[in-house]
Amino acid sequence: MPPQGLLLIAASLPKGWEVRFLDENMKVATDEDFDWADAVFVSGMHIQRPQINDICRRAHEHDLAVALGGPSVSACPENYPDFDYLHVGELGDATEELFRRLARDTSRPDKQVVLTTQERREMSEFPIPAYELIPLERYFLGSIQFSSGCPYQCEFCDIPGLYGRNPRLKTPEQVTAELDKLLECGLTGSVYFVDDNFIGNRKAALDLLPHLVEWQKRNGFALQFACEATLNIAKRPEILALMRDAYFATVFCGIETPDPAALKAMSKQHNMVVPILEGVQTLNSYGLEVVSGIILGLDTDSLEAGEGILEFVDQSEIPLLTINLLQALPKTPLWDRLKREGRLIEDSDRDSNVDFLLPYDHVVSTWRECMGRAYTPEKLFARFEYQVIHTYPNRIKLPNSKERLSFRNIKRGLTMLANIVWQVGVKSDYRREFWKFSLPLLKRGDIERVITVGLVAHHLILFARDASGGQQNASYYSTRLRDMPVAAE
Ligand code: SF4
Repeated sequence: MPPQGLLLIAASLPKGWEVRFLDENMKVATDEDFDWADAVFVSGMHIQRPQINDICRRAHEHDLAVALGGPSVSACPENYPDFDYLHVGELGDATEELFRRLARDTSRPDKQVVLTTQERREMSEFPIPAYELIPLERYFLGSIQFSSGCPYQCEFCDIPGLYGRNPRLKTPEQVTAELDKLLECGLTGSVYFVDDNFIGNRKAALDLLPHLVEWQKRNGFALQFACEATLNIAKRPEILALMRDAYFATVFCGIETPDPAALKAMSKQHNMVVPILEGVQTLNSYGLEVVSGIILGLDTDSLEAGEGILEFVDQSEIPLLTINLLQALPKTPLWDRLKREGRLIEDSDRDSNVDFLLPYDHVVSTWRECMGRAYTPEKLFARFEYQVIHTYPNRIKLPNSKERLSFRNIKRGLTMLANIVWQVGVKSDYRREFWKFSLPLLKRGDIERVITVGLVAHHLILFARDASGGQQNASYYSTRLRDMPVAAE
């Protein structure tokens, strides 16, 4: 996904400032880029801490002032002692002050300057992120933000601490204008609403959705939507019906665990408003495929927790689950509790900073086993097959509009199909399972499904093999360094 936060900062810069925007997931900044610049703005999440600090080091080699903002520094400014400017918090008065200081003088200050937002800019006054600065057509998903903050207080989550419990909102007109711009800038396929909880303010979601439906009708259903929401959305048929009409196809739900005692212990009782499996089925009945977050290493986990997770995977028929080890993030109740209990371990060789109640090796090997068994090609394609029968037919029938059947879309689809057929259908050792799943779809002309499932399944199968073989980090949020080469263009 495009880096939404930094694109927003780029759009907020004073008029006349020239910007070169580099997403180092795609293209490494070169010496020429640094030579061109007067100052460097960086943003990132905890997992990117080594790379964030490395960008700072490279910029300083060119004697450039470097400013860091975004979620990681806002939670842990102490992790970034080398930066010249730290921007803590969201877009607001600190941002204006940073711009003012750099407008006066771009040289490096004698010591670090920390600017903390006291007054956040209203989201209804946010500019449209500078999507024109990136090659949008090269991203797998587009990203868009409607709200910030979440009313709940799950023990492990830093969203309420960072962004507040009273969700702040953009207007529906802002959102549709952003969608217009995403299309103009070449986005095809899907857009992910990055809000941590799309129904954090249910009334606002209900107000927005009819605008999205109308936008889709006006634009020939050019895009497919995805979002994150709490599972109690299953109790809101009026929201689900509008989501179906707006062509939402996927909802990420932080189910975390099927164990009610564990949900209570982590203050996530809102997951139990309806029985979890029933909730998943309700979403499926509106054409929504559920993606689930799962956490292992909870204090309530027994030695058999892994079996419980695998049983849930089978019963829920959810194809994609991000099975993760518990990690304590700063600015969370979990962090505070574990600190009090002396159970935080900062050791970059561990896959989590939590001193689990169960033996560490057991928790990690449970994770590896869950990844290995949940994502065998047979099991994964069987779960997608379930979605083909029980979920996808519940979606609205899309028109054969000129936007959907554009030359660009068709070319992109055919390129992806050719790659999948070659990489998966010919070269992979699980081509049998792939063709068993794909041939009936191809006979029905459902090429789009073969592409989306083929691509996601290929990634998951390879990732899970690495994970169960010990080559992947068990916590996607831990600071353990991974050997992740940055892709050259
Ligand atoms: S519902 Fe989701 S976003 Fe809200 S506090 Fe819980 S985990 Fe965080």
